[in-house]
Order: sequence, then C-alpha cells, then structure tokens
Amino acid sequence: MVIVVGSGAGGATVAKELAAKHITVKLIERGPAIEEKDAFRCYADTESEVKVLRAICLGGSTTVSAGNGVRCLETELREAGIDLKHEFEAAERELGVSVLPDALFGEGTKRIMEAAESLGFKIEKTPKFIDADRCKPDGRCVFGCPEGAKWTALRFVQEARREGAKIITNTTVDEVVVKSGEVKR
Ligand SMILES: Cc1cc2nc3c(=O)[nH]c(=O)nc-3n(C[C@H](O)[C@H](O)[C@H](O)COP(=O)(O)OP(=O)(O)OC[C@H]3O[C@@H](n4cnc5c(N)ncnc54)[C@H](O)[C@@H]3O)c2cc1C
Repeated sequence: MVIVVGSGAGGATVAKELAAKHITVKLIERGPAIEEKDAFRCYADTESEVKVLRAICLGGSTTVSAGNGVRCLETELREAGIDLKHEFEAAERELGVSVLPDALFGEGTKRIMEAAESLGFKIEKTPKFIDADRCKPDGRCVFGCPEGAKWTALRFVQEARREGAKIITNTTVDEVVVKSGEVKR
C-alpha cells in the first residue's frame, strides 16, 4: 500500500497514477473536501509576514490557481541534457492546455496587449488549462472557478477514487514513523 500525503498537483497526480496501476492508495489531506467555487475560503498564510499563498483543501493550491499552463525551465533543462518535450506535451493534453480566444480576455489585459504592441513588443498569449467553452471571464479563477472550467487536481483525486483509492480529508500527517528502514504507520 502507498500512502500519499497531500492532494494538490503533486499528491493527486501520484495517487491517480498509482491507483490506475491497481496499487492500493490512501490519500491523506489536511483540509476539507470543498466545492470548487468555495476554494477561496481555504487560503492559508494570509496573516504571515511573508505571504506564500496556498490553499489547504482537497485539490490543494490548484483550486485557486490562475490556470496558466506555462512550460517551466524547458530550455534550461534541455541545455542540461534533460529533454522533457514529450512529458510537457502529455501533461498539456491531459490538462487541456490551450490559448483562450480574445473574447475571454479582460479589459485590462486587452489594453496591456494594445499598449505593448504599439511599443513594438511581440505579444505571446499565456496558454491556459481552462476550457474556453465553459469559461465565463469573471476573473474568479483564484477564488475557485464557479463554472468548473479550470483544471484542478480535484479531477485527479476523483480519478484516483474511481480506481479504488481511499481519500481521507481533514487529517494532518504529523510524522512518518520509520523503524528498521520501514515506514510503520
Ligand atoms: C493564488 C495562486 C495562483 C496560482 N496560479 C498558478 C497558475 O496559474 N499556474 C501554475 O502552474 N501554478 C499556479 N499556482 C501554483 C500551483 O498551484 C502550485 O505550484 C501547485 O499547486 C503546487 O502543488 P503541490 O502539490 O506542491 O502543493 P499544493 O497544491 O498546495 O498541495 C499540497 C496539499 O497538501 C496538503 N498538506 C500539506 N501538508 C500536509 C500534511 N502534513 N498532512 C496532510 N496534508 C497536507 C495541503 O493541505 C494541500 O492540499 C498558483 C498558486 C496560487 C496560490
């Protein structure tokens, strides 16, 4: 059996992949199960001096993400001999990453694009893991999408559950007890 701690981008992905291979998975999440539209209630760290925003709930910080599906360090890793092209493509297919139509851009974004173009800068639109057909441009991505248009790790949690994973919420893992090189509980 594999115990996965945390149900955000990392944990939910691991749980889904393992469960699909018929490995027994228990996914333990500190926060509650929520509806996506209520994710803003789960922001943590808002009172700390250095604000590292994150959400403590099923789906983790992906529930409040802006939906930007940008490839990270692709060039730098390739220069170091690690080519992740196929992995990026697979992730983009799975998350439904694409560039949204201009009709879904906010007024501010359109103005910045116009101003940049008038100054001779080339505009590149940010790829998004947002379903354009379901998206309403209300700027509520980072509150929790009321339309369920944005990919969140909740989808992977659901897939893991369908494959038999046990999902435990409102439970914090405080310590991993290791005896003779083995995790005991
Ligand atoms: C406002 C905001 C906007 C963002 N926008 C984007 C974006 O547009 N594009 C992008 O790529 N990224 C974005 N990010 C970043 C992205 O959401 C994170 O990089 C990603 O979710 C990190 O995945 P993770 O699994 O490491 O952590 P998280 O997704 O935060 O998940 C960690 C989970 O583990 C749980 N947990 C932690 N400790 C324990 C414990 N001891 N026991 C049990 N459970 C525990 C937490 O409750 C949480 O649910 C954004 C983040 C924020 C906050």
